[in-house]
Amino acid sequence: MSQEINQKEYLENIKNDLTLDQVFQLLVDLGGEPQTYNNSYIISRTICHNPPGQGSFKLYYYDNTKLFRCYTECNDAFDIFQLILKVKHLSKSGITYWAKGGELKTRPWDLPDALTYILTYYGIEAENQNFSEEQLELPDDKYIAEKLRKQSIKTNKEQSVSLKIYNGAFLKNFPQPRILPWEREGITRESIISHNIRYDPINQGIVIPHYDINNQLIGIRERTLIKENEARGKYRPVIISGQMYNHPLTFNLYNINWSKDNIRNMKKAIVFEGEKSCLLFSSFFGIDNDISVAVCGSNLINYQVEMLKSLGVEEIIIAFDRQYQEYGDKEYFKWEEKLINIYKKYGSFIQIQFILDTDHLLGYKDSPIDKGPEVFLELFNNRKKPR
Ligand SMILES: [Zn+2]
Repeated sequence: MSQEINQKEYLENIKNDLTLDQVFQLLVDLGGEPQTYNNSYIISRTICHNPPGQGSFKLYYYDNTKLFRCYTECNDAFDIFQLILKVKHLSKSGITYWAKGGELKTRPWDLPDALTYILTYYGIEAENQNFSEEQLELPDDKYIAEKLRKQSIKTNKEQSVSLKIYNGAFLKNFPQPRILPWEREGITRESIISHNIRYDPINQGIVIPHYDINNQLIGIRERTLIKENEARGKYRPVIISGQMYNHPLTFNLYNINWSKDNIRNMKKAIVFEGEKSCLLFSSFFGIDNDISVAVCGSNLINYQVEMLKSLGVEEIIIAFDRQYQEYGDKEYFKWEEKLINIYKKYGSFIQIQFILDTDHLLGYKDSPIDKGPEVFLELFNNRKKPR
């Protein structure tokens, strides 16, 4: 290729050529558990400042700008090369090399390393150019500001959501063996069968189909049973015969297709974080009493509240995981602030109550239902408004 293309343009061209699917796949492998929206953007866990599989879904990637934006901690926009640097710096992984004198040393990742990584990852042929740190520049503020302006025009339109519907007929080809790790936690066989949970022998994962309120298959997540794969995220969208069954989790509530009639009758809904909590609820209290749903994250958005309101819900009980070591510690207040924000947002038109583990009946990061039905009932019956 011609020498006239400067390094900045070179990086720019690589970024511009990346398809949304390619970026999606990278985020899957980095443990971001991504979801795509309208083929224009991706929402991922904030792997820019959190370990894989953790962090909230506040890292956005926009296809029109080819930029990421982290809406929490980093509060910044950056490109794919910078994302790689952030991930590598966070995990403190370095580049090992032989220094002069025969010493084996490690240095932090730099931009040329990130470029090499991306080229290798996507099998892009490198141009025969020498890159040095000075030549490779990060996009400047003006450039980012311009891109973000374009992007905000686009994302304002994201309110109307139509989820892709999949044909789930193939699901019955996956076996339903006993899932002992889950049974040990208290999930009954009946609950597994009724939720159409299956086993994927090839990837060795538990297949969790997600349905919308009308029982239509909108996505499938898989919980890996292989310890080594957990580093890339415990839950991932499943890929079957090359088709990725991903869906925007935030525009649905897991389990609502099964619990909607009970919710309608009770005018109450319990909102958990993870799918497993719903399975435990119906295991402990019976499918006919199940009024649980799961946000599959740790946030409750307006869209989800509207879904519950459409069922005539008068009370929402937030039963999020205990994300604090001790009641009243620093982490607790951060966690409580999130609950207070939910209360402030919706509390004026719907009754919002919270399950708070003030007496440490649960373990760190436990769901309120993880310690069995008795503990759950005690917490549930003591539910309260935030202070
Ligand atoms: Zn971040």
